Amino acid sequence: MDLLIQGGEVLDPGQGLRGRLDIAVSQGKITQMAPRIDPREAKRVVDVSGKVVAPGLIDLHAHVYAGVRTVGVNENCLMPDLAGVQSGVTTLVDPGSGGCYNFSGFTRFLVPTSRTRLFALVNIARHGLFGMPEITQRDDIDLEGAITCVEQNKPTVLGVKLRMAGPVLDVFGIEAARLAKRAARETHTKLMVHIGDSREERPQANRLTQQLLAEVLEPGDIVTHLCTHHAGGVMRQDGTVIPELRDAIKAGVVLDPAHGRFNFNFDIARRQLDQGVTPDTISTDIGLTNWRTTVHSMTETMSKFLAVGLSLEDVILRTTANPAKALGKVDTLGAIAVGREADVSVLEVVDGDWEFTDSSGARFKGTRAIVPVVTIRAGEVIAPDWGPHPWGWLPAPGPRGRS
Ligand SMILES: [Zn+2]
Repeated sequence: MDLLIQGGEVLDPGQGLRGRLDIAVSQGKITQMAPRIDPREAKRVVDVSGKVVAPGLIDLHAHVYAGVRTVGVNENCLMPDLAGVQSGVTTLVDPGSGGCYNFSGFTRFLVPTSRTRLFALVNIARHGLFGMPEITQRDDIDLEGAITCVEQNKPTVLGVKLRMAGPVLDVFGIEAARLAKRAARETHTKLMVHIGDSREERPQANRLTQQLLAEVLEPGDIVTHLCTHHAGGVMRQDGTVIPELRDAIKAGVVLDPAHGRFNFNFDIARRQLDQGVTPDTISTDIGLTNWRTTVHSMTETMSKFLAVGLSLEDVILRTTANPAKALGKVDTLGAIAVGREADVSVLEVVDGDWEFTDSSGARFKGTRAIVPVVTIRAGEVIAPDWGPHPWGWLPAPGPRGRS
């Protein structure tokens, strides 16, 4: 046995698994799980007593096409391992940082040099997010190019991305979503669509989101920025969710919140929960411009959803089994089981008086914070980075904690 993960509380809600279990790892794979495994047989023992042992966390929305965008020209991506294994996350999905004109560097340079497992979506905009707004004229969508790019970059690429925000709404209207859907359909992959027009709001945004949900998205497609407060979001003036969202939920469209600098509103997340609408996944939209200021980390984003009202099981499910399902990877990702690659996120839940900030600057309170303790990726033991705050991983202390 190469490694024994000893004494932790295994929490794998996707399999309904909760309890104190030791995990034995050999050659990168889980070989045994039992209440007690003899440590004398292990080359290395990692004692995680009192900690939560979750399947390797999956962030469905993280901008990590680092080193390719140039500083000064909207550099916006974080090194994959900083957002990944050094933050307690074993799998990241880059949602369209690259388009067909510049995507291949992701497969050639980032996938082989990252310890974090990487997937990506190809932006329907030919230059991806290398300059924003990414679609200002019809030539900015190259449908054939996008289809070829998705095919040539499988299995790293799992789908197509469209940001339904900005001038694309004027230039293409709903046709942009139909083109992106065509690229996804022809490549047998998923479509993820960003909603929420944060920079300069367009009056047609709300109508286009209704149309997107009612006419374009199919079961398994993903709508991202569920909790946005901007035009093009899923809330009506009276604070209730639009009926098109309920129909999309029934149809099996995946709801992803993707926090980001602009698109996580605590009040909206609460209202949605009150109305029985919960996100299927929890993701960060992390990038170089928001990790120290707004989003901070996957685990802090999870802590924010605890503050919204989800349980610990709820947030682990939405960062393990649920995103694995959304990616069509339930057989390999999002569970702790014998025979699988040993991807494990060891976490600590710290009680306290915490204060969080959402994308509109509103502050809200929480009593539990999740922080990364150690990440196991294919059997390799990896320590977390120092963390996004000057003091590390814990969120900001609330008024009582500050005194
Ligand atoms: Zn994003």
